[in-house]
Amino acid sequence: MPSDNDSLSLDAFQDEAERFLRSIADEFVDAGLSGGRRASDRIAAVEELGEGHELQVKQARELQARLFDAGLAWPSGPADCGGRGLTREHDQIVERLLSDLGFPSREMLFVGLHIVAPAIDAHGTAELRRRMLTALYRADIIGCQLFSEPGAGSDLAGVATRAVRDGDDWILTGQKVWTSMGHLADVGEALVRTDPSAPKHGGLTVFLVDMHAPGVTVRPIRQMTGGSAFNEVFLDGVRVPDSHRIGGVGDGWRVAGTSLGSERETMIGGDGPVSPYVLERLAALVERLGAAGDPVHRQRIARTVAAVTAMRAAAALPETSWGHRTAPVSGSVLKMLMTRAVDEIAALAGEVLGERAFADGGEPDAYAWSEFVLGAPAMHIAGGTDEIQLNIIAQRGLGLPRPPKPLN
Ligand SMILES: Cc1cc2nc3c(=O)[nH]c(=O)nc-3n(C[C@H](O)[C@H](O)[C@H](O)COP(=O)(O)OP(=O)(O)OC[C@H]3O[C@@H](n4cnc5c(N)ncnc54)[C@H](O)[C@@H]3O)c2cc1C
Repeated sequence: MPSDNDSLSLDAFQDEAERFLRSIADEFVDAGLSGGRRASDRIAAVEELGEGHELQVKQARELQARLFDAGLAWPSGPADCGGRGLTREHDQIVERLLSDLGFPSREMLFVGLHIVAPAIDAHGTAELRRRMLTALYRADIIGCQLFSEPGAGSDLAGVATRAVRDGDDWILTGQKVWTSMGHLADVGEALVRTDPSAPKHGGLTVFLVDMHAPGVTVRPIRQMTGGSAFNEVFLDGVRVPDSHRIGGVGDGWRVAGTSLGSERETMIGGDGPVSPYVLERLAALVERLGAAGDPVHRQRIARTVAAVTAMRAAAALPETSWGHRTAPVSGSVLKMLMTRAVDEIAALAGEVLGERAFADGGEPDAYAWSEFVLGAPAMHIAGGTDEIQLNIIAQRGLGLPRPPKPLN
């Protein structure tokens, strides 16, 4: 792996990354596997892993391992955990090149890399960081997020899953839901209640759960798109060593905040629903159907371009230009802008295709869009609903008062 070099210029890094990616492109692009991005016309707002998903997962893991060994999996990460101490811009160069060169999606790794890993990095012990970050970034293991419960989604601090201390271990019991990629995961970041007598936000702790441990049951949930991206997870007396605690006992709300902040910031990038690949496919669709000549479609095209441009412009703002009253809200703003862009993309595809988006007539690049159009509404919910993002922006960003409690 190349040595740390925090002064490596973006141009030099881009050359190095591009040379490497071109040297392995034959193995991954158009590999003939159903997961090969150019070998399938699937297009999804939420990665669902349809038929042949084992091959897709295998390919994504192999690609991630190759990136890791070449020092390209996590350029901004610390050297002792497989990174190179470079910047987020260096990370973005790799993501952009992977997309431009047509490499297959690694979206099934998103939760582990962008939700679980940041919490371990910021709050984990040195030992947990070294072992788990390396394994996650090399895709030796896949991570999932065990936060939501049937009775705790927006009101996340209300989680009821209990963890009770037993010697050097904790025993976890409860139910989680909407666990993306839970069926593939090796580890899960679980937000649980360790002190029921403490104030709601203070009695929480985060653990890294072995998803193959006795007592863990994962049940897929079928979605309206036809696929299953997420699951119910039952924890029935699951033993977790204290060494797998992320952050202090009672510090779970802060640890969860790190994961949620990173999730919202990074949803707009990589292989997500507004990736360069999705936009290329959309532009090709509009071109193929001659939609730009239609006065109604032209309005929608302009709205789509405006929404994507606004999202990209906001994402490119330097960290220092985001003002706030009590806590940073850039993640919530970016998530709202992304959701709007996804809505416009889905509406444009749905409008230009009409019923062909929903009835498979065998036309290439037509019915494939149904997965995207039907998956788009999920963006209003995943990572915290629109209403919750607006509350965060209003209260933490603008310093407005909390909404009044509803009358009983
Ligand atoms: C594609 C997808 C992937 C997901 N992946 C995961 C995952 O991997 N792990 C995980 O833990 N969770 C995951 N989730 C769950 C997601 O985080 C929750 O669905 C979300 O936080 C909302 O919680 P809820 O579904 O319980 O809705 P509720 O909290 O019951 O909300 C219902 C409605 O009430 C509104 N509402 C609630 N409280 C307020 C308030 N204070 N002010 C105004 N309006 C309010 C909401 O905006 C919403 O419209 C995923 C969800 C989706 C759609």
